[in-house]
Amino acid sequence: MISHVISSEPEYEVLGSMLRLGEVIVGDDLPVDEILETLVVRLQDLEAALTAQLSASSEAAAPVDLEQPFGRLSRMDAIQQQQMVRAARVGKKIRLQQTKAARMRVQRGEYGLCIACDDEIELKRLQARPETPYCYACQDEMEARQKSMRRT
Ligand SMILES: [Zn+2]
Repeated sequence: MISHVISSEPEYEVLGSMLRLGEVIVGDDLPVDEILETLVVRLQDLEAALTAQLSASSEAAAPVDLEQPFGRLSRMDAIQQQQMVRAARVGKKIRLQQTKAARMRVQRGEYGLCIACDDEIELKRLQARPETPYCYACQDEMEARQKSMRRT
């Protein structure tokens, strides 16, 4: 069922198609209930897709065996490639966590509320990233804080 989703390509492809799907389904004239329903379905799809991608890439993230008879360059290639796979996996794991947390909020009837300020998250934002836990304002604030932390 989700085989089309499992690919070595990064997740943008999946997300891109979901966003397009979202744009088609979620029109401005739809009642909020229906918009939320489509978002819940997209959360389910996203969780399945990320889970599949993570299990597909787990082997590629395994430590490079330095004892193997690689040539000098190809060993460096292998390590570099592995680092890219690992970095991508970290992003996906975070996203998967957020997706699971968002589905929990659906179950508790709290979905769509910012977990920082309790205000409603903008629908446009939910449509772009249904798993987001923050409204625009809180997200901006968080990113600004992370940047200043990195600078110090
Ligand atoms: Zn907020």
